Amino acid sequence: MKQQFIERGYRIVEYEQEADVYVVNTCTVTNMSDRKSRNILRRAKQINPKSILVVVGCYVQVGKEELEKIDDIDIILGNNEKNEIVDFVEQYENKITEVNNQKEFLDFGTVEYTEKTRAVIKIQDGCDRFCSYCIIPYARGRVRSRKPDSIIKEISTIVKKGIKEVVITGIHVASYGKDFEKNYKLIDLLEDINKIEGLKRIRLSSIEPTIITEEFVERLKKLDKICNHFHLSLQSGCNETLKRMNRRYTIEEFEKVVELLRKAYPEVALTTDIIVGFPGETEEEFSKTYEFLDKIKFYKMHVFKYSKRKGTKAASMPNQIDGNTQEKRSEQLIAMSNRNQKMYNEKYIGREMEVLFEENEEGYSKGHTTNYIMVKVEGKKDLENSIKTVKIEKNVNYELYGNLLM
Ligand code: SF4
Repeated sequence: MKQQFIERGYRIVEYEQEADVYVVNTCTVTNMSDRKSRNILRRAKQINPKSILVVVGCYVQVGKEELEKIDDIDIILGNNEKNEIVDFVEQYENKITEVNNQKEFLDFGTVEYTEKTRAVIKIQDGCDRFCSYCIIPYARGRVRSRKPDSIIKEISTIVKKGIKEVVITGIHVASYGKDFEKNYKLIDLLEDINKIEGLKRIRLSSIEPTIITEEFVERLKKLDKICNHFHLSLQSGCNETLKRMNRRYTIEEFEKVVELLRKAYPEVALTTDIIVGFPGETEEEFSKTYEFLDKIKFYKMHVFKYSKRKGTKAASMPNQIDGNTQEKRSEQLIAMSNRNQKMYNEKYIGREMEVLFEENEEGYSKGHTTNYIMVKVEGKKDLENSIKTVKIEKNVNYELYGNLLM
């Protein structure tokens, strides 16, 4: 959207500065996100009461009526209007289309990136999974995959401009290709991306474990650009809780996936998302989750306290868990995650690692390893967008510090 405005002669200003048009791209994943969006909308109009205030995104798809009650908003657009946003602003009219009728991926083509090193490439939209706590399938609609040609063209173009790493993302990346007539899945796409000359790294964003089969890993490990960092959303380590969440795997199946990946990538960093305090999560269920996580030893866990999302099945489930219990469980898992991360990082002290340097900050050049550990090198300024070997000296606050090897 930013790019569309730039192409039509608009100038982008910093957040909270005075502007003629404010676009608030909303998330609706929790009730808290809705509240934050409403606050930002109010704030924008306070900064410039004469501005055109546009709200777009997922909140619109599921909470249009609520937003219509906010007088300050001038234009309300659904996700499918994002690629025409400038026209709407210029015509100043409201239009919503039903997201669930959207059959094709809304392709923005090749966009201009402000990042110099890493670019996020969206390959699909929508989700058909309907996990019981999640509003996304209602907000984003069914799975639509982006055509491989468009993805390859975009990556090839940005690689020529200097981008070294791409992060493959989407709402449910594992479903990529499900809506194509021909049999072309995520692994086929990754094989094609891997062939792009000049590209150094391919990182997968969050991925559902069910896609990781023996055949998938066999093909994946032949691709030299794939980063050894996978984010597998587990959500709970207890089969009963997983069932109520409508997740479609058991912890036994998940463990097999972990084994497959650790065998193929011995140094792999596995990260995950966990929801604590899901309705009906007893002490016993939580203990099962705790034990399972302790066994798997993820490099890092993003811990979320379950929050009721209106319009989802879980919102009306009995035995909702109180805030104190959620807080206690969350603290326990965060402490485990911190211990794991420290342990994982420390094994690299004294070793050599390849780092893709991204920026300079406060006297340090910093970048990430393929397994996504932040590494800092003191005093060098000209490393940006280059891959160098660093000898690791110490681990401070989950970041590694080291010296450059020539
Ligand atoms: S798979 Fe992810 S996006 Fe889809 S419903 Fe479940 S949590 Fe939501």
